[in-house]
Amino acid sequence: MKYIDEFRNPIHAINILKQIDAIWTKPHMIMEICGGQTHTIMKYGIDQLLAGKVELIHGPGCPVCVTPIESIDNALYIASLPDVIFTSFGDMLRVPGSHNDLLNLRSQGADIRIVYSPLESLQIARKNPDKQVVFFAIGFETTAPGNAMTIFQAKKEGLSNYSVLVSHVLVPPALQYILSAPSNRVQGILAAGHVCTINGWKEYETITQKYHVPIVPTGFEPIDILDGIYKVIKQLESGDSYIDNQYLRSVHKEGNIHAQEIVHQVFDVCDQKWRGLGVIPASGMKIRQEYSDFDAELRFEYKDISSYESSECISSLILQGLKKPSMCAVFAKECTPSHPLGAPMVSGEGVCSAYYKYQRIVGSEKIEVMCDQ
Ligand code: SF4
Repeated sequence: MKYIDEFRNPIHAINILKQIDAIWTKPHMIMEICGGQTHTIMKYGIDQLLAGKVELIHGPGCPVCVTPIESIDNALYIASLPDVIFTSFGDMLRVPGSHNDLLNLRSQGADIRIVYSPLESLQIARKNPDKQVVFFAIGFETTAPGNAMTIFQAKKEGLSNYSVLVSHVLVPPALQYILSAPSNRVQGILAAGHVCTINGWKEYETITQKYHVPIVPTGFEPIDILDGIYKVIKQLESGDSYIDNQYLRSVHKEGNIHAQEIVHQVFDVCDQKWRGLGVIPASGMKIRQEYSDFDAELRFEYKDISSYESSECISSLILQGLKKPSMCAVFAKECTPSHPLGAPMVSGEGVCSAYYKYQRIVGSEKIEVMCDQ
């Protein structure tokens, strides 16, 4: 299949590995930002192919994993109200809140529905005028345009029973947070190809200049990732730092202007809490005043919700690249995909679920049976 087969071709992989061998002189630490890239790395054994040469650090690129627990607790509260239909992407349903999760709440009788597109939520609102329909809008720059479109459309149609609980995050401020930390180990970055498809890579120019870190917008197939790693190594070996776009078939410097316009029309930038990382200035999005009628946070009065994280979960250290999932004391023991204690074990893009699924362990630990999904 075009655009798939050639990006999974083992001959191409061998050639890129030879190119890396030809220039490599010392170990490098490279962070991939996207959870989809993390799963490709694990699935195709790219970390193992490059063992000893490159340490791949898994960044905060799983949207479900970085959604703060307060947002999940807010979602649980709204979803539990009578006459509410709560809609969400499927991954969010099993993410633990402080006391419950959406899947369990659904089994207790709440009307919580999985949607595959935010526009489905609008359709549910049109069909259920006597109910309040709330969509849980999470994710990076990638999902923001579609979510913004539903708010724009709801206003245009005068839909008074539709609102959105927003917990969007922006990648560049989080990158700056990681790169400026005293404990930072990241020397080069594979930027997420889909985020760059929307926003382009202009924003990364200041980051690469300020922190002297190579940044390579990279796709999601194994050859994309090997090629992205090669492009980063080339710069690290020569002492350069600039943007080198690997994902040419999708990413352009300016990004998708139409998508950016609808996002800018509906959302404003705000400070945002990231699960595991804390509040990062100007790293989130909130609904603009003109669309505030569709803001679920304003429509529903919250009681005092006190949130707390599992004390065993070290996802904050993992999301900063300071620990690996297998260093967590409860990894593959008390915490498994069927019994997750933290979001990175739930999501299809979560790094803990990737380590579990593809059986990555560090040191001498042994995990007997891990495949329960
Ligand atoms: S293994 Fe589970 S508890 Fe440990 S960091 Fe990952 S999600 Fe958190």
